[in-house]
Amino acid sequence: MDAVISKNDYIEIVDRLRNDCDLNDEKLSLLLHCEDTEVNDYLYSQAREVREKYYGKNVYLRGLIEFTNYCKNNCYYCGIRAGNNNAERHRLSEEEILSCCDLGYELGFRTFVLQGGEDPHFSDDTIVSIVKNIKEKHPDTAVTLSIGEKEKDSYKRFFDAGADRYLLRHETADREHYEKLHPADMSFDHRMQCLRDLKKIGFQVGCGMMVGSPFQKTESLIKDIRFLQEFRPHMVGIGPFIPHHDTEFAHKEQGGVQLTLRLLSIIRLILPDVLLPATTALGTVDATGREKGLKAGANVIMPNLSPTQVRGKYLLYDNKICTGDEAAECIKCLSMRVEKTGYRIARSRGDHIFLKNEVEKNTKML
Ligand code: SF4
Repeated sequence: MDAVISKNDYIEIVDRLRNDCDLNDEKLSLLLHCEDTEVNDYLYSQAREVREKYYGKNVYLRGLIEFTNYCKNNCYYCGIRAGNNNAERHRLSEEEILSCCDLGYELGFRTFVLQGGEDPHFSDDTIVSIVKNIKEKHPDTAVTLSIGEKEKDSYKRFFDAGADRYLLRHETADREHYEKLHPADMSFDHRMQCLRDLKKIGFQVGCGMMVGSPFQKTESLIKDIRFLQEFRPHMVGIGPFIPHHDTEFAHKEQGGVQLTLRLLSIIRLILPDVLLPATTALGTVDATGREKGLKAGANVIMPNLSPTQVRGKYLLYDNKICTGDEAAECIKCLSMRVEKTGYRIARSRGDHIFLKNEVEKNTKML
């Protein structure tokens, strides 16, 4: 079938995607697998035009604080899963988390992402107290939580305490695929329910998936795309799958950079106003991966604000970049990289475009 598809046909497919924010499964599949450089460049250029229409040249920063690498779960792909006895564990205290935020604030960050494994040590009360303290000290910042699956009441408490956003990667919208990536005590339905609860409560919600994870088929990616179209998250985090040496997927093939870039552009075109990070995983598999991501429609980067002595311990996958630099160095390096792409780092909260006005109004009232 591929043989009868000309370059012009592919260009038409991209145009249709841009105009309709949609494609049928057959055309999506063709585009996902298209390796023609000219077509890919065209796809990226369309995604760039759309991101610039909504967000101009701005690239939004999220200061990532990896505050615990303890986790009760055992996702097969993850280097910090409970069963990995070789993982060196760490937890930051509440004071340490707050001082990461203070440093980040001085460096110009206006969003903090508190990321951790599902660590029962941090009770709901503790999370509520951390969120309240950050918001009290830095009321003009956004707090994002990325601490996994909880029950709706817990999410509601975090929201009421002032948390603005929640990131919970769905990892795959294909149930069968999910079950190959996770042990039987983890539930696809619960993960999806969590995402729906978060949205209903009022969080800006981010989901996302690994690209090229073991057992992923084209149909799985199409299910991901259909899920994104239906769920309409505010943010989508995708990055190539990278094996970790202490997991059962240690010898599985890494996800492809080109496929990740094509997917970034496709997501930008189906959800034009979405916040889309150029992820650290993309920068890990390709030294200029984050720049390529920005040129393919991404508009967010998430530098690490965790203290340098613990960064090397939050290893979900191997060879993770930026585990040694101080936050100030990181931001200098990233600013230069971003400028080279023709974009600029925005020192603002970087809310989803349709929530921005509302948030600004509320912040002024504080
Ligand atoms: S992917 Fe997340 S939930 Fe799964 S083991 Fe790793 S930290 Fe825990």
